[in-house]
Amino acid sequence: MPEYKTKNRILIVEDSIFNQKVLENILMDSYILETASSAGEAYPLMETFAPHLILLDIILPDANGFDVLRSLRKHKSAKHIPVIIISGLDREKDEEKGFLLGAVDYIKKPFKKAIVKARISTQIQIINQMRAIEEMSLRDGLTGIFNRRAFDTKMQIEWAGAYEKAAPLSLLMIDVDLFKCYNDTYGHPQGDMMLQGVAITIKSMLRPGKAIFCRYGGEEFAVILPEAELPEAVITAEKIRLSIKALHIPFADSGIATSATISIGVASLIPEDLGSFKELIETADSMLYRAKKLGRNQVQYEVN
Ligand code: GH3
Ligand code: MG
Ligand code: MG
Ligand code: MG
Repeated sequence: MPEYKTKNRILIVEDSIFNQKVLENILMDSYILETASSAGEAYPLMETFAPHLILLDIILPDANGFDVLRSLRKHKSAKHIPVIIISGLDREKDEEKGFLLGAVDYIKKPFKKAIVKARISTQIQIINQMRAIEEMSLRDGLTGIFNRRAFDTKMQIEWAGAYEKAAPLSLLMIDVDLFKCYNDTYGHPQGDMMLQGVAITIKSMLRPGKAIFCRYGGEEFAVILPEAELPEAVITAEKIRLSIKALHIPFADSGIATSATISIGVASLIPEDLGSFKELIETADSMLYRAKKLGRNQVQYEVN
């Protein structure tokens, strides 16, 4: 795996070249480091470097570290990034102030290698556990794809983005046909396996970065297609439908085909207000309903 995926990023905000070097020597083997010599240099790095942890000196040439900490807590990209204060000020009052402002630890200078290593490692472990929990909270346990919670958040973000750019946003609502009957015939464990297979197949049909694929609930999946107009979304939906058909999952009782099938409702629009994205979901849902009513195993979309 490339280094940027396996190692955590730490931003060192410290004006003393000597201390920068000391910290770099202690940490460079375990982490990806970036150094800022002033508050002014540090701020842009919140976005471009996106550190997992910030080491913040108190006496900086252009700012007081406490003030930097205060403004980081309100910063759009940095407010959740843990900060460890690194300071030569060893009065208890300063340490207390740092903690009150939200620092997670306070390391005193001069640096002692073992102490610095251990305290940073402790924070990084907490950070990585939090990241794993956050990641898990967005994933569906059965299929590993995004879950409903992730769908709601991502849809909101894509909706706002599409509104800003006056760009189209498309949504596919996908539902496995007669899945209750499949479960009744083959049993729930096999039903679970079929959902896993369906999820893997749909995922393989989508271009990474161009589509957001979620388990909407039960045997329903949703695909968000940012910047896709209706014809492109319909083509994608049709490809997905055929890919599931091509799996030839035995389903003798389906009454539709001899193998498992899916129905898809497609909706596409350019958001006219920032408000709710309900309209897009409702249209995709009603198109899915139409696909079911018209005999399942098909894609339906509204023609305006
Ligand atoms: P339709 O073609 O109209 O969609 O019919 P359907 O039978 O697929 O729809 P219905 O909503 O009646 O049934 C959905 C079934 O999906 C019922 C539920 O037990 C099953 N289901 C939902 N989640 C899971 C799951 O995680 N695993 C399994 N095995 N079954 C599930
Ligand atoms: Mg300093
Ligand atoms: Mg359903
Ligand atoms: Mg169904």
